[in-house]
Amino acid sequence: MNPKQVVDKKLKKGETGAAESNSGIIIQKWKDKRDVLTLSTKHTDELLIIRSGNNIELQKPAAVVDYNKHKAYIDLSDQMKSYATSLRRGVKWYRKLAIELLIGSALVNAHVLHQEVANEKMSITKFKQEIVNRLLGFDVDQHTHSIFEDHQHSLEDVGTNNRRRCAFCYEKLQRESGRAHAQRKTPRTKLKCTSCEKYFCIECFFQVHKRTK
Ligand SMILES: [Zn+2]
Ligand SMILES: [Zn+2]
Repeated sequence: MNPKQVVDKKLKKGETGAAESNSGIIIQKWKDKRDVLTLSTKHTDELLIIRSGNNIELQKPAAVVDYNKHKAYIDLSDQMKSYATSLRRGVKWYRKLAIELLIGSALVNAHVLHQEVANEKMSITKFKQEIVNRLLGFDVDQHTHSIFEDHQHSLEDVGTNNRRRCAFCYEKLQRESGRAHAQRKTPRTKLKCTSCEKYFCIECFFQVHKRTK
């Protein structure tokens, strides 16, 4: 195939042209308001019919439809990472990249999860500050709103040898199938809620402690 032919192809609005390489990569050009070029190993060059807000039918390449669907998440993640990077000069670029990938993405994911579970909005910067304070062992300022003030319940790892039955699973199983069954089937966990003084699997902990505002 000659990708240049596809790239250079003159198109009118709504038209498309594509070619496939021997290795199955499809290059596609499609003209919307501007030319859009895609490379994909997943999509064919088919056009999908999309219904827009005012019920007008549009044709778009499958690769573009998928890209638009997912780019919101990519943009959000990239954007948040760029707002508040904790890295400064003097670190080798590949370390920066590795740390940024691990910590940046992990923090953004944790932040999204925190908002889901706690059902509260918090800026990524504030969230990072809270994490850092916590890691450094500082008492979080009493006057500022803290995610930890609201969350007296936290999990403690008591070690594999001290595992107990998950309280929530036990209750559920007992209700469904009786005590004998629950005693046999309830999974054991090493995670203890320091406030409830009960043991929970991680999923059950969140389910029990989920706040509904
Ligand atoms: Zn459980
Ligand atoms: Zn608790």
